[in-house]
Amino acid sequence: MEDRDIKSLTREELRKELLDRGEKAFRADQIYGWMHQRLAGGFEEMTNISKSLREALGSEYDYTNLEIVEVQRSKLDGTCKYLFRLADGNVIESVLMRYHHGNSVCISSQAGCRMGCRFCASTIGGLVRNLKASEMLDQIYQIQKDTGERVSNVVVMGTGEPLDNYENLLRFIRILSDEHGLHISQRNITVSTCGIVPRIRELADEDLSITLALSLHAAEQEKREELMPIARKYSLPEVLDACAYYFEKTGRRLTFEYSLVGRVNDHPEDAERLAALARPLHSHINLIPVNPVTERKYVQPDKKVIGNFKKELEKYGINVTIRREMGRDIDGACGQLRRRYLDEEHAKPKKGGDEC
Ligand code: SAH
Repeated sequence: MEDRDIKSLTREELRKELLDRGEKAFRADQIYGWMHQRLAGGFEEMTNISKSLREALGSEYDYTNLEIVEVQRSKLDGTCKYLFRLADGNVIESVLMRYHHGNSVCISSQAGCRMGCRFCASTIGGLVRNLKASEMLDQIYQIQKDTGERVSNVVVMGTGEPLDNYENLLRFIRILSDEHGLHISQRNITVSTCGIVPRIRELADEDLSITLALSLHAAEQEKREELMPIARKYSLPEVLDACAYYFEKTGRRLTFEYSLVGRVNDHPEDAERLAALARPLHSHINLIPVNPVTERKYVQPDKKVIGNFKKELEKYGINVTIRREMGRDIDGACGQLRRRYLDEEHAKPKKGGDEC
């Protein structure tokens, strides 16, 4: 953890810090409540805390408060894409999806990504840096404040590989599910990974009840390697073993994500192999018709091929859904809003350009 970042401290840690400086425990709880329940934008809003303490804290700690750069609102389904600026100038994106069962926010865990999945826009510029726990939390806080609507589900499926930012991810989950914060049930938190085997095993031992989603994308080693470089490091049997361990330890069924890429992994034999992998783990399969990314050549299969692929899986008794495309009319695929912004920034003349 970056030190002196007050919104990344767990409740216990904040208590300890404040007790050490001669404050009472209830004072720490008040400050924690201001940050994580009342979603204060800074110490100055904490009106029941003395001015001298607020000033002292302000000079000693960073207070993460993300700035909204842009919001794109879909006219089709109420989906909103947010572009945020971090204190150091980096930009990240998050998505709010409105479902019948509640509002779900998809957050980024890193600025950029180093996993290199071939079809993904988030990885094009490589990894810039890990996000702090506070920067993951604040994506949700800012969206809740902007809309005035409660967020009930969180998916860590935006830019970045969450298990490549493990310590901050755990801190994020603990603070987000804390009853003195937004108190989002761990059952309503999903973490999606490309399959970093040692971290999946470690996560299984953390005593959490979150849902783990594995980005599988191919049911054969060779095909998976073509789509995802990480597959060269951790083989398919190793990843599936780690998933079995996760299921055994937590009792939580996993989701397998499978991006359907036209003529690459959409054949009936692919469905058959996929079913054979999912069945023993009782995994749910989420099919994602690949979102074409300008910089990549992959295309979506025809509607009919997608429907047949689903039917084929169902024939084997697999629980399968096709991910509904949300916000089709706004920068579609993961990481595309950020990419467009970065490209535009890059294209701007450095000196003497028109301010808009
Ligand atoms: N690093 C995490 C989170 C990534 S984004 C992971 O790999 O799981 C969440 C999901 O969207 C992943 O399954 C990812 O592979 C998938 N994805 C990324 N770009 C996509 C695209 N252009 N079309 C379809 N799915 C995509």
